[in-house]
Amino acid sequence: MAHTLPELPYAYNSLEPYIDEETMKLHHDKHHLAYVNNLNLAIEKYANLSSKSAEELIMDLSSVPEDMRSAVRNNAGGHVNHAMFWQIMTPGGPREPSGKLAEEIVNTFGSFADFQSKFNDAGIKRFGSGWVWLVQNNEGKLEIVSTPNQDNPMTDGQKPILGNDVWEHAYYLKYKNVRVDYLKAWWNVVNWQEVEKRYNEN
Ligand code: MN
Repeated sequence: MAHTLPELPYAYNSLEPYIDEETMKLHHDKHHLAYVNNLNLAIEKYANLSSKSAEELIMDLSSVPEDMRSAVRNNAGGHVNHAMFWQIMTPGGPREPSGKLAEEIVNTFGSFADFQSKFNDAGIKRFGSGWVWLVQNNEGKLEIVSTPNQDNPMTDGQKPILGNDVWEHAYYLKYKNVRVDYLKAWWNVVNWQEVEKRYNEN
């Protein structure tokens, strides 16, 4: 069963003015589609890999033949990362989490504002292309991590519940070289209900 591009769960222009319509079109229809197509190409000769989900592939990269491992790492990673990214954004959601996640963010980072500032800082410090994440680590504790390229924290046994794409393709048309402005604006489109759902499920 070939991997397929999931539909965007809202209109391309609905995250305006924080993320512009053209960026969303290119990001979803071109960049994400390329990861899906390249993943399908990479695994087409390997029946045992074709039966696995993209998540299963990045959680067990050692099972992938060495000549295909980089291609699977980059493209299954790109597919998983972007599929989550579209889900954890929404227009018009609450601007902060609630419930157990909100409490645990305050316990771990001091305050919601401190959490945002540390997350932004990790996004600024990611050299080149990559992602910044809020994960539950191996002990179930919240932690901010960043990964290069399309690597996903699942490969290291962590559970991502929120992630921001800091590749230039995610922000350059609107924010040019000023990644920090994108990082700050992005909080306006986070889908905290979806993030809380991911946090609360085991
Ligand atoms: Mn991207």
